[in-house]
Amino acid sequence: MKLDKLFHISEKDWYKVISWATIAYDKDKNEISGLATAVPDKDNRYIISDIEILKQSNSGSNTELEANSVTEYKMKYGMKYNNPKMKYVWWHSHHTMEAFWSGTDENEIEAWKNNSFSLALVVNLKQEYKFRVSLWKASGLDIEEHYDTTLNIIRKDGVNVTEGMKRKYKELCSNKSSYVQNQMVSHWNVKGNQRQLWDTPLYNTTFDKVALKDKAYYSEICESIEECMDEFISGEISLKKFKKGLKTIQSKMDKLKITDYKISIPLESKEELLNKLQYTFSTELLEFKDKLHEREYERNENHGWYN
Ligand SMILES: [Zn+2]
Repeated sequence: MKLDKLFHISEKDWYKVISWATIAYDKDKNEISGLATAVPDKDNRYIISDIEILKQSNSGSNTELEANSVTEYKMKYGMKYNNPKMKYVWWHSHHTMEAFWSGTDENEIEAWKNNSFSLALVVNLKQEYKFRVSLWKASGLDIEEHYDTTLNIIRKDGVNVTEGMKRKYKELCSNKSSYVQNQMVSHWNVKGNQRQLWDTPLYNTTFDKVALKDKAYYSEICESIEECMDEFISGEISLKKFKKGLKTIQSKMDKLKITDYKISIPLESKEELLNKLQYTFSTELLEFKDKLHEREYERNENHGWYN
């Protein structure tokens, strides 16, 4: 396995480190440090967890763990995992400063010298980090090498179907018995019109090429609408906020003097809307200047821009 694929941390644990760093900076403008465990899983990937802070004394530019607490932490987790392969990770924060190894940090890393390797992590509030694997001995060779490598963050568990995925799916995947499904997907648009996309195959359609004056912003705007939809569907924001978000995007579009298309603010109730948005793509919240523009934008989106 490549070194940069070896070490992982769950998103939750990663945010724990950053949260501790945030508290220490907000309260005292100080650094903060703690320990974590690194335990190999069945695929021999090391998972970093058990993020804890210990008794310590801190300043804006230094952080020092109390020796007894370090011993206690090591005993506690040594017993818990009872795995000779497990390692400890010394982690600390540089709050608003860069994530780098200072002279003091390198001394601390030296103090964790052992018969195999040791691990250290420094972060800052911007979530930048350095994760160091220090090799002290390998196959009995007395070598000393430090590698700053990737700490892979394991993103949220669970399925997360985004609007973007739905849109891509609609673009790219055909289903042999899809008539009903397509009808369902395409049934609704903001004006309540049946969409033309599916019932009129594009390759059979001849249309004059129109100049798409506002195509430069198109995908960016679709992305913004999509984000807004995602937040609403996932319950992060209220219906009011959702509409407000759409209006904000529209006012940005107004500033850019976009006239080929505009946002159509949905009028449904929250429940109706939540149902509909499941089967709606961000472009369906756009109202186009005319059918010709609508088709041309759709076509370009599906097949990439060309002139
Ligand atoms: Zn430091």
